[in-house]
Amino acid sequence: MSGTRTLTMIKPDAVAAGHIGAILHQINEAGFKIVAMKYTKLSKEKAGEFYEVHKERPFYGELVDFMSSGPIVAAILEKSNAVEDFRKLIGATNPADAAPGTIRAKFAKNIGENAIHGSDSDENAMIEGSFHFGGVEIFK
Ligand code: UDP
Ligand code: MG
Repeated sequence: MSGTRTLTMIKPDAVAAGHIGAILHQINEAGFKIVAMKYTKLSKEKAGEFYEVHKERPFYGELVDFMSSGPIVAAILEKSNAVEDFRKLIGATNPADAAPGTIRAKFAKNIGENAIHGSDSDENAMIEGSFHFGGVEIFK
């Protein structure tokens, strides 16, 4: 079985639109347990660091500006097969392609302002979890 944890961020667009509660509800209903959570805001530097893998992509500047534009909710989620199942729950990057009922289909505005992040591998889930949380902030 693959790893049991993934890292999510409810992005500034969804926070500003008042969707924190609805999104967390859907995450819990899908069987994910919240083991760490914080309401925070990324500086430009931290947003740039988080998305460093996309540094060469044409949308990187816009992405960093967007992700540092307002508060976010960051959380570590636990469930069997967490990474893959959470990617299914959030839907495709572009909400126009996201399956009906997925979080992005319901709450994302467009491919950039797409409501929520989900780790893409167990390895990145570990790295991204440590980016946002220290050991004493994680509750099993
Ligand atoms: N993004 C964008 N334009 C694109 C592709 C991605 O603005 O053409 C943004 C979007 O916010 C996305 C993030 O960059 O969620 C990271 O891109 P990735 O391909 O990793 O998508 P994700 O893993 O979030 O589905
Ligand atoms: Mg990604």
